[in-house]
Amino acid sequence: MTWNFCPQCATPLKMLSAEEDGGLKERLRCPACGFTHWNNPTPVLAAIIEYRGQVLLARNAAWPGKMFALITGFMEAGETPQDGIRREVKEETDLDITALDLVGIYDFQRMNQVIIAYHVVAEGQVRLSPELADWRLYGLHQLKCWPAGTGYALADWLRSRGREPVFFTPEENAARRRGLAH
Ligand SMILES: [Zn+2]
Repeated sequence: MTWNFCPQCATPLKMLSAEEDGGLKERLRCPACGFTHWNNPTPVLAAIIEYRGQVLLARNAAWPGKMFALITGFMEAGETPQDGIRREVKEETDLDITALDLVGIYDFQRMNQVIIAYHVVAEGQVRLSPELADWRLYGLHQLKCWPAGTGYALADWLRSRGREPVFFTPEENAARRRGLAH
């Protein structure tokens, strides 16, 4: 998101350095009231869902093509990451988590996000939220990782299961985004 005006006093923001950064780094600041747009990354929760012995991936209704991916969602105020991933998985799939463990923390700089990735074991009957169009179960040997963010989480988890991860090539990735392949 691009900020043009100060949310406190509506003055146009400018790239300015300040003493608190040692004067070294320019940030979007308000020259009138001193407001700083820090632009810190946003925490996002991601779940590698183990369901009936396979991995559940889902396709977002807003995505073009046939991209299936991990369940993700923004962390909310007043919850722990563990509570957040339980909530997201319940909201998106209606499944209940019976076990969870942290896979790792990953940067996703293109979206200015930090991804907190969990492996979860889930049970129940899948009922997708309206945000999701479809879901599929994959065996470990069928999973491919995209070379960014959640893909690195999936890759690390596969390694922890003794499998060398396979990544989509840039060409495959581009084709998937255009909906030509999956
Ligand atoms: Zn201002």
